[in-house]
Amino acid sequence: MIRRIVMAAYLGLLVCLQAGNAAHAEDLAALTYQAAGDELRTRIVINFDHEPDVSTMLLGDPHRLAIDLPKTVFGFDKKSVEPRGLITDVRYGMIDSTRSRLIFTLKGPFAVERLDVIKNDTSPGYRLVADLVASSDRAFAEAMKTQNQTTASTVVAPKGDRIASAAPNEVSTGPKPFTVVVDAGHGGIDSGAESAGGSLEKNVTLLFAQQLRDELGKLPGIRVEMTRNDDTFLRLSERVRIARQYEADLFISIHADTINRGSIRGATVYTVSDKASDADSRAMADRENRADAVAGIAFDNETPEIADILMDLTRRETHTFSLSFAKTVVKSLKKDVNMINNPHRFAGFQVLRAPDVPSVLVEIGYLSNQEDEKLMLDPAWRSHVAERLATAVGEYAGMKTAGALN
Ligand SMILES: [Zn+2]
Repeated sequence: MIRRIVMAAYLGLLVCLQAGNAAHAEDLAALTYQAAGDELRTRIVINFDHEPDVSTMLLGDPHRLAIDLPKTVFGFDKKSVEPRGLITDVRYGMIDSTRSRLIFTLKGPFAVERLDVIKNDTSPGYRLVADLVASSDRAFAEAMKTQNQTTASTVVAPKGDRIASAAPNEVSTGPKPFTVVVDAGHGGIDSGAESAGGSLEKNVTLLFAQQLRDELGKLPGIRVEMTRNDDTFLRLSERVRIARQYEADLFISIHADTINRGSIRGATVYTVSDKASDADSRAMADRENRADAVAGIAFDNETPEIADILMDLTRRETHTFSLSFAKTVVKSLKKDVNMINNPHRFAGFQVLRAPDVPSVLVEIGYLSNQEDEKLMLDPAWRSHVAERLATAVGEYAGMKTAGALN
């Protein structure tokens, strides 16, 4: 009896091995994996030994992309699949005896802008090229809905995935409230500027951002989101990605920098521009744009497409809105908050470059000036300035809703 079971098991194993050997010759081999880009746009390139048959599926909660392949042998270098840009995790393996799957986990909602299988020109084999771009919660929920309507009957979701209840809970189908994303500059390993007395910009900006959030919360019909609510490091592109995730109507980045002349003080409102309004503004933008490098992240120049997103056609309208909001802020602050000469300035700030989100950067004061520092450390002063800024947001939102800005 026992011998028979052993024998049967042995035969079974033989059959498996033979089937395995026979299939092996035809198995697809995924040879290399590469990813490049940032939190707004990431390109994946996978090299195969022969042409793969590919299908994809979006998965929610967390945001994931599954790429299904025939049975595949993966030969990826471990280092190559480390988190990059929008992608926080890459997994791959067999899902049954004939199929394999790659699963990418992303930082937030995304769209597959392009997915092509291309024959290599100079080397044998094929490559899969996919461009993943950051999108909004609503766009992702829509894409999931469309996918489920068209593929729910044919695609089997991995265990535990809620493909049927695709839409993330917080995505409502009603009209979107006027949304403001408040960005506390710097954070984590990037402390930003430091005063002579040791005050760190990243702490001042967080305290102010929280008070601004509270003031905005008092306005009816306004939704407020923060890019960070604790001492976390965020890449500049991650801040922009968050603004786009929420389809923000306004993005307000809060700073409190130092400047090389201690006498300069007061608030400044910046908008983005390829040409800086003055040398100080250019220097300020250069320093701000180095925030990622401060944290040891090298600037990724492998993806020229990132430049394309900056040139998006929607930018012109967005820019008009940014200028309009900046003017409203200056008007509101000017009444009783100390401002620098020519308080609306412009320079090439990376963090203000969302093509579809009107964005301003507000230096609430300068940590290089003792009086400014004293004020910024005073909760009552911060609360007052936050209230003036919130008033400006309310005015702007009213004008925008009424269509008075076009
Ligand atoms: Zn700063």
